[in-house]
Amino acid sequence: MSEIPAVLITGASTGIGATYAERFARRGHDLVLVARDVARMEALSSRLRQETGVKIDIIKADLTQTSDLAQVETRLRDDARIGILVNNAGMAVGGAFIEQSADDLTRLMALNTTALVRLANAIAPRLAQAGEGSIINIGSVVGLAPEFNMTVYGATKAFVLFLSQGLQQELGPKGVYVQAVLPAATRTEIWDHVGADVNSMSNVMEVGDLVDAALVGFDRREPVTIPPLHDLGLWEALDGARKAMVPNLGNAVPAERYRPVA
Ligand code: NAP
Repeated sequence: MSEIPAVLITGASTGIGATYAERFARRGHDLVLVARDVARMEALSSRLRQETGVKIDIIKADLTQTSDLAQVETRLRDDARIGILVNNAGMAVGGAFIEQSADDLTRLMALNTTALVRLANAIAPRLAQAGEGSIINIGSVVGLAPEFNMTVYGATKAFVLFLSQGLQQELGPKGVYVQAVLPAATRTEIWDHVGADVNSMSNVMEVGDLVDAALVGFDRREPVTIPPLHDLGLWEALDGARKAMVPNLGNAVPAERYRPVA
């Protein structure tokens, strides 16, 4: 792997992914940008090439399509210069569960979970072999809160958190850093796609602030980075309660409260 590894970023045509591209380019990393909108990635990359001098490749891929996804997996397996994967591409579906179509939800799950797993799976063996490298997975605070009523989207983001924590267990000892980033509402186009007016919402973070904060967590090798959460103790209490429960989860005898009524 080169001294400054190249970074492959999914969903790099706009929003959080495009901002990661800009920040990593300014740090001197070559980039591989992945999304569907080539014109936007061309515009971003010609500006960044000019401003930073880094090398930038573009892969046009719809990550819900197996053949497109395979192209990106191959690149991650074969290109030893890539040492950082930013699994950022994601989508939301508007409306309540009973209004959402099964086809839309299938696309949502394919992009937010399957693509993320397959791309991590493509790069992880090489990084583990090298004993270095990073995988950044973009989750969401929605994955912590069923109360937000974004059920399937939130479920995919809970998946991203679990996946990241599991990969930390597996890959951390091999020298590979895995970070889960959990943004809350951030000013990007994702809100237009679900028919919400981000300008009428409160507590919306600017995308540059979100990515800069996430990179502070990245530089500290923090496992879970939640930029909008000011009281870190709240996250530590939740994670601590979960860890305290783990040794109690295996038992041959059902709990007293489940004893069948005689
Ligand atoms: P965004 O502005 O809508 O950008 C999404 C990016 O993903 C775009 O570059 C889009 O590019 C790409 N993308 C969408 N569908 C794709 C597909 N089928 N194949 C390949 N690329 C695809 O969204 P964002 O807010 O930056 O979101 C980035 C990540 O942050 C997502 O995982 C999202 O769930 C998460 N997040 C966002 C917020 C928020 O409030 N913004 C909060 C929490 C978490 P193309 O259209 O060119 O393909």
